[in-house]
Amino acid sequence: MEKIALFPGSFDPITKGHEEIIKKGLGLFDKVVIGVGVNAGKKTLFSVEDRLRIISEIFKDEPRIVIMQYQSLTVDFCKKIHAGFILRGLRSGLDFEYEQSIAFANKELDEHIETVFLLSSPSYSNISSTIVRDIIVNNGDYSKFVPKGFKI
Ligand code: ADP
Repeated sequence: MEKIALFPGSFDPITKGHEEIIKKGLGLFDKVVIGVGVNAGKKTLFSVEDRLRIISEIFKDEPRIVIMQYQSLTVDFCKKIHAGFILRGLRSGLDFEYEQSIAFANKELDEHIETVFLLSSPSYSNISSTIVRDIIVNNGDYSKFVPKGFKI
């Protein structure tokens, strides 16, 4: 059976840190679905359409990466796309604390879906969407922090 992993997130916007986790995921799974979560209560800098467009452009030459938006519970979306795994990245112990509680909740909701954590390399572990947003809003050079092919 095809091994499909969902990489869920806000991706507001996608960073080199996200890209690294996605690329590592391709070594473990047949397909990685980047799920852009739509959360009505969360204010974002980029619209969901822009986030999807930016990500699609970056990965346009990788047929094993699929980009989708979703609004439901993450485990329900996993079922819909037949993903047996949720992929998440860890930068620090702080990330771990937060991610562990989400993973436990998801396990309660669906015991068949396994969360897989991958560590970011030290050079990427200080990159966050928040920092990239700050640089963009203040007209700084954000190119070092985002994947090649990133176009606003
Ligand atoms: P969310 O709003 O769900 O936290 P994000 O887009 O911020 O969504 O993050 C999605 C995933 O990417 C999370 O697992 C997060 O820990 C991970 N991530 C974010 N930045 C990095 C990074 N620099 N290196 C590795 N993983 C990262």
